Amino acid sequence: MSVPGERAERLAAAARERELDLLLVSELVSLRWLTGFTGSNGAALVDAAGAPERPGIFLTDFRYVTQVQSQVDAAWDRRQVAQELLGPGIAEQLEPGEAPIRLGFDDRHLTVAQFERLRAAVEDRAELVPAGGLAEALREVKDDGEASRIREAAHLADHALTEVLGRGLAGRTEAEVALDLEVAMRRHGAEALSFPPIVASGAHGALPHAEPRASVIEPGVLVTIDWGARLEGYCSDCTRTFAVGEVGDEERAVYDLVLRAQEAALGAVRPGPTGREVDAVAREIIADAGHGEHFGHGLGHGVGLEVHEGPRLSKTGEAPLTAGMVVTVEPGVYLPGRCGVRIEDLVLVTEDGAEVLNTLPKDLRVVD
Ligand code: ZN
Ligand code: ZN
Repeated sequence: MSVPGERAERLAAAARERELDLLLVSELVSLRWLTGFTGSNGAALVDAAGAPERPGIFLTDFRYVTQVQSQVDAAWDRRQVAQELLGPGIAEQLEPGEAPIRLGFDDRHLTVAQFERLRAAVEDRAELVPAGGLAEALREVKDDGEASRIREAAHLADHALTEVLGRGLAGRTEAEVALDLEVAMRRHGAEALSFPPIVASGAHGALPHAEPRASVIEPGVLVTIDWGARLEGYCSDCTRTFAVGEVGDEERAVYDLVLRAQEAALGAVRPGPTGREVDAVAREIIADAGHGEHFGHGLGHGVGLEVHEGPRLSKTGEAPLTAGMVVTVEPGVYLPGRCGVRIEDLVLVTEDGAEVLNTLPKDLRVVD
């Protein structure tokens, strides 16, 4: 998968805004986004003044030299260094100059030990400037190629779940259903899972991050399934809650409430409002119904190369949504010891609204 050179340009512009000379990208997810490299050891030195045809230096060790030839565009100055590259491997690339250069590093991901090693290696040739989050902020807005990979992953995950539901839920254990779903996603072409699927029935569904148990799913309960597939690095994320046979009035009422909140919030997704404002749409409906304390997590999150990334749709989401963002809308109501409902869609923010990327219906579906 070749990566548009425009990403390096935008990152260089962000580096210039911070008055950096070079920006070190060492965290592997952002490195993949920037260069296409999927190996386990590499780094890029983005030249803040670099032209698009000369974005900077790409470093890896002996094991990945061949892989880099096919993955990392030749516009990068591709060099081989020692395996522990965050140290002398970086320092060797710095041109000797009169004044120390300003070298941005990822203070959100570098360990203290890596930082100390880097500082010792660059000595007084570079001033290390904390600059974490620059690539992550750009990653929030997806280009068409990224959005279509996420859309494809979502469709694949939908097909896999449809197949699994065809085999029924009652009488199987949560763990069996989860494994069935994992295998179905892989068989449908997923390269991996976004995360281990959640399958939570009855009172267990009141745990937002329940782990599938070896206990049998009984008729008369709700089952929450949260699952996602990974395709060419990009994740999907979706949740549906099903009824196994006939469920009680309380379950139905909670389901209707969550669905109403979910659809209202979905209707609020478009460029302009902040994550906090969209979160508030669902939160208000759930609070008005007397269940405010039973919706203890944020409404949603960004999805891309990581299943949880920016932006946040929560009480702390202060950034406005913009076209190209891919976010989840997933309110839930969890009644401890009784039941839980969560409904999650994956949504692309478009110029004039939003496109839901997954396709499974949301009316309460009864599965045997
Ligand atoms: Zn999810
Ligand atoms: Zn999610």
